[in-house]
Amino acid sequence: MTDSHPLETRARELLGTVKDPETGRKLAKQIHTVAVENNELNVQVGLTTFAAPLKPDFQQEIATLLKENLSGEIEKISVEITEHLRPAQPLGQVGLTAKAVIAVAAGKGGVGKSTVATSLALALKNAGCKTGILDADVYGPSIPQLTGVRGQVQKVDEKIQPLDFNGIPLMSIGFMVPPGQAVIWRGPMLHSAVTTFVRDTAWGDLDYLIIDMPPGTGDIALSLSQLLPLTGTVIVCTPQEVALIDAIKAVGMFRKVKIPILGLIENMSSFLCPDNGKEYDIFGKGGAQKYAAEDNIQFLGDIPINIQLRERGDAGEMAANFDDENVAPHLVKIAYNLAKTLAKNAAENPVQAQLPVLG
Ligand code: ADP
Repeated sequence: MTDSHPLETRARELLGTVKDPETGRKLAKQIHTVAVENNELNVQVGLTTFAAPLKPDFQQEIATLLKENLSGEIEKISVEITEHLRPAQPLGQVGLTAKAVIAVAAGKGGVGKSTVATSLALALKNAGCKTGILDADVYGPSIPQLTGVRGQVQKVDEKIQPLDFNGIPLMSIGFMVPPGQAVIWRGPMLHSAVTTFVRDTAWGDLDYLIIDMPPGTGDIALSLSQLLPLTGTVIVCTPQEVALIDAIKAVGMFRKVKIPILGLIENMSSFLCPDNGKEYDIFGKGGAQKYAAEDNIQFLGDIPINIQLRERGDAGEMAANFDDENVAPHLVKIAYNLAKTLAKNAAENPVQAQLPVLG
């Protein structure tokens, strides 16, 4: 295709300076259409589902760039963001096809790690990303409870078929254990169970695999990272000093095993009293954010203490949190900040083109 109008050539040059949020590379094949017609410049630029949470930013960045440079020469500029297809590549030697594997971890139990893992997966899915959840919290697999998904896991052609949670493939160690029964996992058994779930589950083509990690220990993360390149970990904590101490320990542990720390999330940060509308900081507030800033860790956001959030968790109706104006913006922001952090990392360290597969 040749550009007939000189403005089309200029627009293409400008678009060629924009970076793809997923790879950090300059846009090339993602520039789908550039056309001038009736004194209007129309561009269509593709964005992969991986970077879907950043779609409004991407649109804005391109519109501003074109307007700042070309608006004197054309009446109207319109920018449409379409989907750019770029399948994920197999990671490591395990046959998992995913673009990012994110471990959600905590220094100790009960801080809302599984709630955050489920919410993060839902927020990414709602934004348009292909997302899976692996519940690897062997000491307390709470994802079946939080999602309300229960059932027998089936094998087809040697592959474990994940269960479905709102369009998210879900596999939990809890599906293998009768409810209410305690299982004593010994080290090697635990490691091989997690490995099996990553390797032998029919996950399909994923942008993100969110793994709910067992709390407090880094060895599962270490064995996972030997299996495939973990993109990094997100650490959940609550605001009290004692909880923060555990989170700081967890940060140290991940650093020791060289797993990137993508960010910190403060859960149960404040309580908005439904009776009087006042905000109470039951466990304190802002401690995690302050610590994150001091230790050069990205703060991904906070989630208030919310009675309905807990009730929805107990009822297996976590998806309804996204219809709750007191909760949803916090969850959406965390997914957005995570996508932004990954885009920043990619821009600083562009992914090498693996032609011809990547567009
Ligand atoms: P963990 O995985 O860290 O053990 P869970 O995610 O299972 O923690 O959460 C423990 C309990 O706390 C659950 O009952 C959950 O619904 C509740 N919970 C988590 N986060 C919040 C919150 N922000 N507000 C109210 N309850 C919460």
